[in-house]
Amino acid sequence: MFDHAAFAGHESVHHFHDREAGLRAIIAIHSTRRGPAAGGCRMWKYASSDAALTDALRLSQGMSYKNAMADLPLGGGKAVIIGDSHTEKSPELFRAFGDAVNSLAGRYWTAEDVGVSPTDMAFAAERTKYVAGLAEGAAASGDPSPVTARGVFLGVKACARQAWGDDDLSGRKVAVQGVGHVGGRVCELLAEAGATLVITDVHSDLLRSVAKATGASVVEPDAIYDQDVDIFSPNALGAILNPETLARLSCRIIAGGANNQLATPDIGDQLAERGLIYAPDYVINGGGIINVASEISGVFDADWVEQKLQRLIVTLSEVLAQAATESRGANRVADEIARRRIGEVG
Ligand code: NAD
Repeated sequence: MFDHAAFAGHESVHHFHDREAGLRAIIAIHSTRRGPAAGGCRMWKYASSDAALTDALRLSQGMSYKNAMADLPLGGGKAVIIGDSHTEKSPELFRAFGDAVNSLAGRYWTAEDVGVSPTDMAFAAERTKYVAGLAEGAAASGDPSPVTARGVFLGVKACARQAWGDDDLSGRKVAVQGVGHVGGRVCELLAEAGATLVITDVHSDLLRSVAKATGASVVEPDAIYDQDVDIFSPNALGAILNPETLARLSCRIIAGGANNQLATPDIGDQLAERGLIYAPDYVINGGGIINVASEISGVFDADWVEQKLQRLIVTLSEVLAQAATESRGANRVADEIARRRIGEVG
């Protein structure tokens, strides 16, 4: 592990095997300096166990950064279950995963991520109390997407203030990629604020209903990069900011909820060189983990969530201002602040 390319000073990495339940899982704990490590559980058909380890190492480090930027009393961790989430799920698998989480005695809190649903997590919760994002229970916080979406909307406004000195979105043109749980709500908030929307999604029924509700015009998935808009809001896939799309985008602001938007960190530098304002993804999309953090604290408190969300947007504005002053990628500035907050050297 210490020689692994994705190793970044992780505190510990745990491998779990339960033959009867068919569980093969890795839990990576990047940091517990700010509090117990928290981050979702992903189920994916990894090509190799090394690919699973790489994902766990990278994603857990990402959670340390995200939780630090949201100023939460949480460290960073992530779980990956090796398997096909469409064909290999069972209650026993998730109960065994619950046992795995429980064996860490609270050093790691889990929740849903790609391939894992609240129903799956309810089986894990039969074996451990260190599960969040549940639909039911004393402090259950439910679906975090509306809070994520509100954070993205407030983040778009913070970017507008940085770009134009004014966060009035009426008459601004926005291209939205992905109108699922987060993107759909972002569209509603943007439309209410008077923005003109052009949207896309591969799910055509969903696309039609969001277009109807918001008056948006619709384009094919690949055409979203070619729109003549002020703002591009990615809310679907990762790695969509790459040399190919960069050559096509003509917006001033990129601000959306999707994770891992930059194909490589140097794309952030190129955005800065072109004078684009980019909201680092793990800062602007921190609303969901703030919501989950309230559940982890034991008592769900909507006022605390709102206060943390407002503070997150102040942090985002500070990152944008510093990036502009220093003519650097906002991702570089955010990484630096996150590393400082988790006690890593600059
Ligand atoms: P979701 O699955 O509800 O929505 C994603 C949407 O993107 C779907 O409607 C899907 O059809 C669409 N999509 C997939 N491929 C596409 C393509 N090629 N072009 C256009 N659209 C495409 O997921 P979500 O919960 O809304 O999350 C969206 C993004 O935000 C993800 O990257 C997720 O990791 C990130 N995120 C979500 C939360 C949250 O609270 N849900 C929190 C932080 C980050």
